[in-house]
Amino acid sequence: MKTSLYTSWGNKKAVPHIAITPANVSAVSFSDVQHSTIAYGQGRSYGDVCLNANGNLFDTQRLDRLVDYDHRKNLITCQSGVILRDLLLFLTTKNKFVSVSPGTSQVTVGGMVANDVHGKNHHKVGSFGNHIHSLTLLRSDGRILECSEDENTEYFKATIGGLGLTGLILTVTLRLKNVENNCIEIKSIKTKDINQMLELFEETDADYEYTVSWLDMYSRPQKGIFSCGNHASGEIKCSSSAAWKKTIPINAPEWLLNRLTNKVFNQLYYYKSNSRAHDVASYQSFFYPLDKIEYWNRLYGKRGFYQYQFVVPYEEFLSVYTEILNIIKQYDQPVYLAVLKKFGEIKSMGMLSFPRAGYTLAMDFPSKGEASLKMFKAFDLVVMNAGGAVYPAKDARMSHDIFKHSFPRVEEFSMYKDNLFCSDFWRRVEQDV
Ligand SMILES: Cc1cc2nc3c(=O)[nH]c(=O)nc-3n(C[C@H](O)[C@H](O)[C@H](O)COP(=O)(O)OP(=O)(O)OC[C@H]3O[C@@H](n4cnc5c(N)ncnc54)[C@H](O)[C@@H]3O)c2cc1C
Repeated sequence: MKTSLYTSWGNKKAVPHIAITPANVSAVSFSDVQHSTIAYGQGRSYGDVCLNANGNLFDTQRLDRLVDYDHRKNLITCQSGVILRDLLLFLTTKNKFVSVSPGTSQVTVGGMVANDVHGKNHHKVGSFGNHIHSLTLLRSDGRILECSEDENTEYFKATIGGLGLTGLILTVTLRLKNVENNCIEIKSIKTKDINQMLELFEETDADYEYTVSWLDMYSRPQKGIFSCGNHASGEIKCSSSAAWKKTIPINAPEWLLNRLTNKVFNQLYYYKSNSRAHDVASYQSFFYPLDKIEYWNRLYGKRGFYQYQFVVPYEEFLSVYTEILNIIKQYDQPVYLAVLKKFGEIKSMGMLSFPRAGYTLAMDFPSKGEASLKMFKAFDLVVMNAGGAVYPAKDARMSHDIFKHSFPRVEEFSMYKDNLFCSDFWRRVEQDV
């Protein structure tokens, strides 16, 4: 076992002892592990749920095999290290698609289960965990548990959204959806303020499977671009933009991305978009626009960045949004990227799942040390008072109080946690659990 530097997307770092999981699941063993351990997928979580400084990491990169595919039953079984990008390349040749996808395809199936990720279609289908048929879980005592809604049900519900703490997920069987081609029909609408944006979410709910809105947080009031889409019908094929993929090779100097360049970029993006555009594009362009630039997180420079994502009930959103804007102004921090989505009423499977009915706003802030942390604490108070929650997948600093408020079933969850499994995130929030 060696040590190595592992990072998460916001550029949090840890030097753990590394065990690369063998490709053969029956060969995965905990006998060498002398420290606490946690699985590491692609490190696309922004904070520290996938890190374990001074402990052990199970890097799942070699658990990358498709195990079984049943076209008629709409089921696929794969190892947990399979990357969504590869899974979709296979599925779209069969006119199938995953039921839920996050905003990047560079994530593993295990990572999507452990954060119970959501997509742009929560209002229609719920989160990723609502489409898991079954999974196998390796516990540190060597037991392999088959988990589903009928078998080891409590472990199933603890593992979905369980932040990797219930053991190592070996394989996952997913329920798929049928599509006719690899294209999405997209409608984009420029919005003049947050009220118009919220009206559009309500108006398009029934007719569109996917809805999302980008906000320009520099403009007053905040303009934006609202997009909605459906899988296209018919025998058409859309070319993917993989051919012009770019990479940011190193961390950018701090002057490159700053308040001014970001403001100009936002204005150009807004004014260059048509005010009501219809388009048919590949699923990659619609779901994963940021994947076109590999390691775009390096644009934030060495200090990295934070994302703050919260959800609050629908009726609380406007007042929470106003208070959050005031706090941002008070702390004078730039918001480089902001994305709003609507969660529907479908209940999440996991004991610690983040998605619940309401609006969810995600905002990227360059890391400004203490000033950023103080501002997030002020956000926390507003979100908690409104009965909301903060998303662990995007977090590197929430306190145990905020965690407990956000996830009231944490005590029940801890009965199914594996004692050998721990992360930097869990060490921070576990007190009093
Ligand atoms: C550009 C971008 C857009 C995003 N958009 C969204 C979005 O729209 N919706 C959303 O919900 N999230 C979104 N995310 C967050 C991302 O989807 C999640 O953080 C996801 O879990 C990352 O997967 P990963 O494979 O990189 O896992 P990691 O980040 O490496 O790990 C995440 C968690 O999964 C656990 N884990 C990983 N593999 C296993 C395993 N085999 N067994 C047990 N536990 C395991 C880890 O221990 C950790 O707790 C986005 C991230 C980025 C960078």
